[in-house]
Amino acid sequence: MRGSLDPEDWQDFRALGHQVLDKMVDWLAAIEERPLHNPVPEDVALRFSLPLPDHGEAAEQVWAAVERDFLPYPHGNIHPRFWGWVVGSGTPIGMLAELVAGGMNSNSGFGNQAAIHAERQVLRWLRQALALPSGGGGLLTSGCTVANLSGLAVARNARAGWNVREQGVGRGQPELTVYGSAETHSSVLRVCELLGLGRGAFRSVPTTADHKIDVQALVGRIDADRIAGARPVAIVGNAGTVNVGALDDLAALAEIARERDLWLHVDGAFGALAAMSPTPPSELSALGLADSVAFDLHKWLHVPYDVGCVLFRDSDVQSETFSMSGDYLSYLASGLATGPTNFMEAGLQMSRGFRALKVWVTLRHYGRLRLGESIGQNIAQAAHLAELVLAETELELMAPVPLNIVNLRFAPAKWSADDPRLNELNRRLLIRLHDAGDAAPSHTNLGGRFVIRVSITNHRTTFGDLSALVQSLLKHGRSLVEELR
Ligand SMILES: *Cc1c(COP(=O)(O)O)cnc(C)c1O
Repeated sequence: MRGSLDPEDWQDFRALGHQVLDKMVDWLAAIEERPLHNPVPEDVALRFSLPLPDHGEAAEQVWAAVERDFLPYPHGNIHPRFWGWVVGSGTPIGMLAELVAGGMNSNSGFGNQAAIHAERQVLRWLRQALALPSGGGGLLTSGCTVANLSGLAVARNARAGWNVREQGVGRGQPELTVYGSAETHSSVLRVCELLGLGRGAFRSVPTTADHKIDVQALVGRIDADRIAGARPVAIVGNAGTVNVGALDDLAALAEIARERDLWLHVDGAFGALAAMSPTPPSELSALGLADSVAFDLHKWLHVPYDVGCVLFRDSDVQSETFSMSGDYLSYLASGLATGPTNFMEAGLQMSRGFRALKVWVTLRHYGRLRLGESIGQNIAQAAHLAELVLAETELELMAPVPLNIVNLRFAPAKWSADDPRLNELNRRLLIRLHDAGDAAPSHTNLGGRFVIRVSITNHRTTFGDLSALVQSLLKHGRSLVEELR
């Protein structure tokens, strides 16, 4: 048995480290020179089925394999013309933070260690960034799904009316119900499943023409459920729906929640960050009325994957849901078993990575204003793209553009809007855009229509990239129409 797992020769390791860093800097600096996306070829994919090695290889060899088999095949989301789903672009400085966090290898649960202080500070900064009232609780999570889970777990426990931690749910107690618009993200449904409420407990409320929750329908549904013996516990407000970027009337939701003693949780995965833009959407001025707000930092703040956040208006509610017992966990008067905040008892995870560092470095390096400008620019770009689409007779704008998402399709002037061929045409058009490497929007379904969805959370996108997208849509759209004849 040899000694520790540290390098035998630190000078060799240093040389490799410099080489890796140089490679990554070159790689990032040349994003635009590479294709947007390279699918993993078969021979490379085959190497991923090689068995577990018994004996190690030199670090240089392992790194050479990473360079050969990993770096050429990303999904494309760091490219300026990637507008699929809702994906952040990352930053070079964020990469460096990951290097340092990996080196420090902090288990960021508790302790009087820098990681805990940094997370506390980052949570305060994020409150400020979103113009939320000071005080209250929160924590960094793996993403908005777990932020939604955390918010709604607390909501369920706080509003059930019995001790859910002790007694669970579904044992003869009233049904616990959760309300959100039909445009609510599917992660919220999965959260309802995981919380033992079942998907059926999520009451999908219709939206108005602008894709916002229909407030009258919401009130009707809550009151009807109550009369029927259910116990409504939470309303999920959307700040930026995934399909079109719609923002619910959060002030109205807060009032309904207050009058009926429900919890208001806001899923603001990307949209909440629009509060940082120079001209924030008016709906977000009511964000501070929510009991919990969930959002991502790896989407519109471009912190490297993965990191999200949940903030609570009240600080005690978190530990009421997440506190743990365990003699081995209790705090002592001083020494290492103490510290300013115990994040292990503030959320689901016990051992936790040093996610705060990459957030801290990002916020500190760019500052609130620069990050807000970048978000504001994406919103302006979406509005610009919508105008370009409206100006082309062969392109059709498929939904309003309240934020950073543009839904469109190619529709030849001679085809009627209900022509069944339109869905197939646009499906093929999207694949052709992807395969040609011209651009990477994604797709969705709006009222039975297949639409190309351009979701701009990308600090590298220029206005020129969007003009190029329009040209590609026209070029490929026209040739597909020819082929379909
Ligand atoms: C992305 C997203 C989520 C889920 O967040 P993850 O970070 O992917 O877990 C939830 N809600 C909305 C609106 C989203 O866009």
